[in-house]
Amino acid sequence: MEEDKVLHFTTFYGQSVEIPFEQLPGQSRSIHEFDKLDRVGEGTYGIVYRAKDKVKNEIVAIKKIRMEREKDGAPISGIREIRILMSVRHENVVQLLDVVVGRSLESIFLVMEYCEQDLASLLDNMQSSFSEAQIKCIMIQLFRGLQHLHKSFIVHRDLKVSNLLLTDKGCLKIADFGLARRCSVPAQPMTPQVVTLWYRAPELLLQSKIQTTAIDMWAAGCILGELFLHKPLFPGRTEIHQLELIIDLLGTPNDQIWDGFSDLPILKNFSLKRQPYNNIKHVFTWLSAAGQRVLNFLFMYDPTRRATAEEALQSSYFKENPLPCEPEMMPSFPQHRIRRGKDIK
Ligand code: ADP
Ligand code: MG
Repeated sequence: MEEDKVLHFTTFYGQSVEIPFEQLPGQSRSIHEFDKLDRVGEGTYGIVYRAKDKVKNEIVAIKKIRMEREKDGAPISGIREIRILMSVRHENVVQLLDVVVGRSLESIFLVMEYCEQDLASLLDNMQSSFSEAQIKCIMIQLFRGLQHLHKSFIVHRDLKVSNLLLTDKGCLKIADFGLARRCSVPAQPMTPQVVTLWYRAPELLLQSKIQTTAIDMWAAGCILGELFLHKPLFPGRTEIHQLELIIDLLGTPNDQIWDGFSDLPILKNFSLKRQPYNNIKHVFTWLSAAGQRVLNFLFMYDPTRRATAEEALQSSYFKENPLPCEPEMMPSFPQHRIRRGKDIK
């Protein structure tokens, strides 16, 4: 049987399952075992509810996933998200607890651990920025989660603040694997249109066919910059504008700093804005030399020279004062989430 038509998994509760996709309904738990409480999020691909598992008496998050049938009739992207989430277990990756089906194949729900905040709504609801100690605490957890994913050859491909969740204990969880892929070594071409524009790496903007785990590291750099500035670092309106914002901060790339740069196909009929300076130290004036180094390392134009998650974790920035705070010291606003959910209804 073709791989994409079978679902293999072990549920959190230890049950090992391998189901031909057509047989999914009826073999898993029913959505009626859950009470939907509030709507907590609605992104591109699904609606997320806070819900109560009536059987286990636990609060969980339920995401209804898109199960549009593709080419050969199998809902590939939905299955891919389920597969990838089922294959990883790490403190900094959201835990999938179960897969639950509605009456038809069109409604499949992921049951996940519930996290009180996402970083986007937390940033929206905070008057002031995170402290540097808090920012380090967030980034270390992000890099640990990424280190685990990348070691397992998973590229997330859509890292941004709304896809990072925080529990009430200050634990960060990477979520939303709707665009994630397994990558191979050597890297194979993938569909280019990934990663929300503001977090998109220059090699994607310049249409390089090869995508590696380095695209997640660029996005992590954008997240670090956003935490520092308390606003998006590169809020481009179009792909060209996005490249211009990047060049304004980092200077125009060239063959010395990016091996193979001038061979990128798009540069045959398009030339980039000229700006010779790296302005990191002018924008992040208050940041220590080690902090500026880690930003520059995450923003290497050449994806092969960009920091890996492991290298980022080893940065002296995380070892100097102010030291990362303990996760318990992260701010939380337990109320705003629920209120926001009610507003949407
Ligand atoms: P989409 O593909 O639609 O963006 P996400 O998985 O990112 O789906 O979920 C959308 C939003 O729902 C998130 O930004 C977050 O606010 C909320 N959310 C997702 N998963 C959880 C969870 N496990 N616990 C709490 N909230 C969640
Ligand atoms: Mg999302």
